Amino acid sequence: MSTAGTVRRQMVRIDEDLCTGCGACVSPCAEGAIRMVDGKAHVVRDELCDGAGFCLGVCPTGALTIEVREAAPFDEAAVEEHAAGAPRTYIPQVCFRCGTGEDDAPLLPVRTAGTSTWVCTRCLPSLIHG
Ligand code: SF4
Repeated sequence: MSTAGTVRRQMVRIDEDLCTGCGACVSPCAEGAIRMVDGKAHVVRDELCDGAGFCLGVCPTGALTIEVREAAPFDEAAVEEHAAGAPRTYIPQVCFRCGTGEDDAPLLPVRTAGTSTWVCTRCLPSLIHG
């Protein structure tokens, strides 16, 4: 049963013991819900996390999972207010094959050899076709 002002929904869960503070999960979160605090990733406010889980694939340690729990509803207006009021700590990512940065080509998250990383659209065809 939901308590006043909350709903039961998907949320990102961060295991602080597994988090190394690498920051890779900050950029994939379009809502800016994840911030680094004292060297660990945190969901700063429940209403900023839509529970979509785009951050999960990039975590090298498996610290990120999705859980279903009571939380404030996702709030698009709060996301806009949050983005306007607090500039994000932006950590640009690069392609694991060629080193191209995300300003020069779109990057996609991939899993390879047991790790999560990024590949650019220039390298993606050779990754698919060998
Ligand atoms: S990607 Fe994983 S290990 Fe890196 S900061 Fe985020 S939760 Fe921590």
